[in-house]
Amino acid sequence: METLVVDHPLVAHKLTALRDAGTDSPTFRRLADELVTLLAYEATRDVRITDVTVQTPVATAHGVRLAKPYPLVVPILRAGLGMLDGMTRLLPTAEVGFLGMIRNESTLQAETYATRLPDDLSGRQCYVVDPMLATGGTLAAAVQFLFDRGAVDVTAICLLAAPEGLAYMDKVFANSGKPIRLVTAALDERLNENGYIVPGLGDAGDRLYGVV
Ligand code: URA
Repeated sequence: METLVVDHPLVAHKLTALRDAGTDSPTFRRLADELVTLLAYEATRDVRITDVTVQTPVATAHGVRLAKPYPLVVPILRAGLGMLDGMTRLLPTAEVGFLGMIRNESTLQAETYATRLPDDLSGRQCYVVDPMLATGGTLAAAVQFLFDRGAVDVTAICLLAAPEGLAYMDKVFANSGKPIRLVTAALDERLNENGYIVPGLGDAGDRLYGVV
């Protein structure tokens, strides 16, 4: 998996505030939203475009538009929802598909509990948004789901990633032959015995929405 850790002072500043246990939920949500927009700017560098010409008040100008089929943004429920607005602000014509996945806290395996996506993703570029790439189980299951429906390439946008998650993705998709990219604000040290990223930021869903 091609991995880009975005090295930018604004990204580092917002991530530091997200990590801070003293940051309340409203502030956390706003920062996550701002951060994903910065990450999305990098993540969409290879978004497909088509040449067009427009008439300016002065002359004809050559430019580009997003190509069809439009990209599909896929938030992984529930924490990925906190990253959706930041993505669609940058890609307003993107369509949105939902994938509900939860990590079984005993097995640490991903389980799918809801899907709302087009059946046919042929020719689609997909952008999966999920704040934390921890063990990689959820992301791997999501990426496989999208490839099974015909997606041409998948870019994951995660606020934070653990080395274990990257290694797992590389192992699972070693021979897939399909492009997979990860764009993240930081690659942290490791996972702890409970599968949390260290130093991380805690449970992203709880920090966004409160404990349920
Ligand atoms: N999911 C989270 O919300 N936080 C972690 O640290 C790991 C997985």
